[in-house]
Amino acid sequence: MNTTEEENQRLRSNLNLVRRQRDAYIAERDEAHAAVDRVRMLHSKRPVSPGCTTCNEPWPCSTIRALDQEAFL
Ligand SMILES: [Zn+2]
Repeated sequence: MNTTEEENQRLRSNLNLVRRQRDAYIAERDEAHAAVDRVRMLHSKRPVSPGCTTCNEPWPCSTIRALDQEAFL
């Protein structure tokens, strides 16, 4: 195998590694988004009286404020 072939093989191997890492990051990101969506579904605004359907805090509850990166203490 000459130098060019070795370099091409090394580059293909690196590209495959980067693609696998990208796919793993995408899967991890999608799962994180799905988890946030599940939390938001649990902590929703009551339709009649103001407050959270799950924790009964005034709306928006501390969980939703934390997800929205607002001060929640
Ligand atoms: Zn809540």
